[in-house]
Formats: sequence, structure tokens, C-alpha cells
Amino acid sequence: MPAARPRTNGFERPWSRDQLVLISGEVCITGCFLWGFYVSGDGGESSEIFLGIGPLVAYAVVFLARILVYVDLGLHDSSVGGLDFFCIKGRKFEDRYCSQCKKMVPGLDHHCSWLNTCVGSSNYGRFLSVVTLGIVTHGVHFVYAVYMLFVSEDGGWAGWWLCLGLAAVFVPSVLSLFGFHMYLLWVGMGTYDWMLKRRADRFNGGGGGKVKKVSAMRAMVDAY
Ligand SMILES: [Zn+2]
Repeated sequence: MPAARPRTNGFERPWSRDQLVLISGEVCITGCFLWGFYVSGDGGESSEIFLGIGPLVAYAVVFLARILVYVDLGLHDSSVGGLDFFCIKGRKFEDRYCSQCKKMVPGLDHHCSWLNTCVGSSNYGRFLSVVTLGIVTHGVHFVYAVYMLFVSEDGGWAGWWLCLGLAAVFVPSVLSLFGFHMYLLWVGMGTYDWMLKRRADRFNGGGGGKVKKVSAMRAMVDAY
């Protein structure tokens, strides 16, 4: 639901449904992981490589880094400051208006409903960092859950099954998101431009992506 007045950051109301679903899922999977870690490590016979203090500290460092970047990204006002991240492709993306946040955003890539903030040139690096750290943490969740359920004799905890189920959703999601943005960076295109091109391709019957009718293109931009 669009805001009634300009939103300055991702934690400001109105909160999006996707944002609340994501936070709930993250809290749930982290809780399951830590609970399984605690229970399985308490008198179990699992390998210390998996349940020792070392892996837990390494996980905690990555997890903390992810939380810090996530909060920093959420509190950042995408309409001001920051580096022009897109310049690595020799191209600067347009400043655009976000109808969800009701504000102009320099180099707007897209409005992320999961983070409930605009991703533009000032925070694109932070956005990619959150996604990358998400791959690491959810990859760890997945590997640990598989190990504890199917390799270790300590397997069978309900927490590990729930952890595995959530990781099976999170891992492909963050991997595909990361891959998609690597592709966009490779071709020098922003998410917004990619969506417009895709719609234009459909409108023109898949014929090469050349927009033939400017008025139709304008209508699609307005509808976005
Ligand atoms: Zn926005």
C-alpha cells in the first residue's frame, strides 16, 4: 500500500506484507537453528567440527554483520547521499519517482517490498551486501540442518526440520536474486529498465525489445 506522505526509510510505516513475512521467517529460521544447535550440542555425539564453539562464533560474526547492514540499509534514506554504484558499468541510471515511497530516488533500481525501501544508487551496495550475507547465513542453516537430520546421530529434532524447510525456501530465493542482479550488472541494466523492456517486448509480441509506440510505453511507466 503506497504511503500517504513521503517515507524516509524502510522501517517507517506503512509496513509491507512482504517485509513482515520476511522478518518473521528470518526470526523463525534463526531461532530454529540456534535451538537445534543448543539441543544437539548438549551431550550429543555429533562432530565438534559442526557443533564446536568455533563454527558458532564464525556464524555469529556473519549474522551480526548481516543484521548491521540490514538495519543500516533500512534506516538509510535512499533519496539522499551515497556513492554512484552503477558507475562501474560506465552508466548512470535515471533519478526516478517511487510511487510507494512518494519521493524521488537518485538512480532508482527498484522498490524492494521485502525490505520496504527503494534501492537506488546510494544504497545498491548495501542491498547486494544483505543479499550476499543472506546466501552465507541461509547456506549455513541448510548445511547444518541436512547434516543434523541425515548424517549425525543427533538428528530428528523438529527444529532442524523446520530450519531445513525454511532454508529450502530462503536459499534458492537469495541465490536467484543475487544471480539476477549479477546478470543486470553484467548487461548494464537496472531492474526498472529490465521490467520496462520485458513489458515492451511482450507488448510488441516479443519482437526484439524495440519500443514502437512511445505513448504505450509512457502508459506502462505510469502504471508501474
Ligand atoms: Zn520506494
